Amino acid sequence: MKKVQHYINGQFVDSQCGEFFDNYNPATNELISKVALGREYEVNAAVEAARKALTGEWGQMKLNDRIALMYEIANEMDKRFDDFLEAETLDTGKPYSIARHIDIPRGAANFKVFADTMKSVADEAYRMDTPDGKTAMNYSMRQPKGVISVISPWNLPLLLMTWKVGPALACGNTVIVKPSQVTPTTTSLLGEVMSKVGIPDGVYNVVQGKGSITGNLITAHKDIDAITFTGETVTGEKIMKECSVGVRDVSLELGGKNPAIIFEDCDMDKAITETTRSAFANSGQVCLGTERVYVQRPIFDKFVKRLKESAQNLKLGVQNDESSDMGPLVSAAHRDKVLSYYETAVAEGANVVLGGGTPTMTGNLKDGYWVEPTIWTGLSEDATVVKEEVFGPCCHVQPFDTEEEVIKMANNSPYGLASTVFTENLDKAHRVAGQIDSGIVWINSWFLRDLRTPFGGMKGSGIGREGGHHSLEFYTELKNVCIKM
Ligand code: NAD
Repeated sequence: MKKVQHYINGQFVDSQCGEFFDNYNPATNELISKVALGREYEVNAAVEAARKALTGEWGQMKLNDRIALMYEIANEMDKRFDDFLEAETLDTGKPYSIARHIDIPRGAANFKVFADTMKSVADEAYRMDTPDGKTAMNYSMRQPKGVISVISPWNLPLLLMTWKVGPALACGNTVIVKPSQVTPTTTSLLGEVMSKVGIPDGVYNVVQGKGSITGNLITAHKDIDAITFTGETVTGEKIMKECSVGVRDVSLELGGKNPAIIFEDCDMDKAITETTRSAFANSGQVCLGTERVYVQRPIFDKFVKRLKESAQNLKLGVQNDESSDMGPLVSAAHRDKVLSYYETAVAEGANVVLGGGTPTMTGNLKDGYWVEPTIWTGLSEDATVVKEEVFGPCCHVQPFDTEEEVIKMANNSPYGLASTVFTENLDKAHRVAGQIDSGIVWINSWFLRDLRTPFGGMKGSGIGREGGHHSLEFYTELKNVCIKM
């Protein structure tokens, strides 16, 4: 049986206690690996290695050499593209067709883009008059924050983990990564890449384990200077509380309940194509995905009919079937959670336009964690599946009459991560974008990402922005130097 180990101080190791937990293929429920469970010993060892590396070869390294290494990491990831593809799709169940175009290339791009950011970052300078008639010059400089822990989720494991490890290393920090317990493998593979390209020991560490055990030990460790977390809002709240002890910095990318607003003057083909993607891509397990669709009344029936036809055409299938559009959910626990939302929707009076249960799968797929793409109408804005993040392949479609009304509906959520607006009227697009409480607004598109732009959520969707030079706010300490002339 394949083992997934920790990567600490440049070495792949089992847990000192010898404990492992099981990792399953979501498409078949077959055991694929045994994963080492990190406890106090491993967390302490990783923190010690990471702290030591800050003052060693890594800490002394010239910026240009560090940037060159970031490029080498990305190039080595490209060379091992197929290994990453295989590992990521087995852990998550997602089809090659998604991982090949999104997860794996973005994993490598995250190192290049932050290497480029570091090359072009400018410092501020202010000349001032002093009280005794002389002059002084102030300039700002950035230094690494120190030992940073990256705690990442399972939906886009490599992409979201490197989105944090890339800037952390480009800025000269050292990291301790704890991936989700259900998607451990690509984090470990990245250890092989780090080793191959000569990243000094202790700079990139991985402690595998469960959130309730390993995650807790990491967040409670006072020698970790800052934590960057992507995951559920309730977990983010706990982590933020932990970080208050020792006044340690925290960056939170959390849940969403994202609205799509479809105006009657939209290009219907575009709206259907993009909403099919935003509601069902990655089986709805995308933080930026749409779960609330608001459609202007004159085109409501037509839109619902067309969205149903489009979602019906999605082919559920196994990872390496290149024609698969949708895989299973990531775990049995998550499948059960999503199905319980499907039941609640019906109990609260939903009209099930499509799906609502589990599909019939055959052969070794019948034990996988499959659910049907699902569309509801007819619920009130207070219904559970209209309020809470389901994180499955589903959406509720609601009619609206006026621009003012739909903005209120869109903003009536504890979350504020992303939204989409479909209209061919440019004035309206700008006007609505300006009034929606979400960190990202896409007009006539979805998931179009320029990695230099600020990424993050409002309200319960998070704190802080990452991306391009915005990431420097979290991954560096800014210091002012004042020189009296
Ligand atoms: P999760 O919060 O359950 O777990 C995320 C990570 O935190 C995992 O590594 C987990 O082991 C760890 N963890 C859990 N409890 C912990 C604790 N008490 N202390 C420390 N670590 C702990 O989230 P998930 O189910 O893996 O991911 C899905 C969620 O992530 C959804 O809510 C989704 O919206 C959100 N998400 C947000 C973004 C974003 O950019 N805003 C991106 C992707 C996913």
